[in-house]
Amino acid sequence: MRSYDEEWKRYRRLKLAFLISNLGFLGVAIPTFVSARLRAMNRVFFVLIIAWFVWYSVSYERFRRFQCPRCGRYFSSPWLNFLKLSAKECVHCGLPRYSVDRG
Ligand SMILES: [Zn+2]
Repeated sequence: MRSYDEEWKRYRRLKLAFLISNLGFLGVAIPTFVSARLRAMNRVFFVLIIAWFVWYSVSYERFRRFQCPRCGRYFSSPWLNFLKLSAKECVHCGLPRYSVDRG
């Protein structure tokens, strides 16, 4: 019997990448805020903000579009909903997150 191990490993990697991209906001926002206060805003910070935004958007979309190992549809809600982003079960078939049995 096969399990969902590989799919859940991928889910964890996508979730971790998304969480790290959230932390990346601090790495961009704090220097940008300080530079703005010092009136030293320049192209470097502008490029950093754009790069972070692209990184965040891509990691968010990859995580949100994770497909349920059982039914193949989006595991989380397809709509923009930050509260339901990390669903405890598939919104379509009810497969519990990190379920091990293909049943
Ligand atoms: Zn499902």
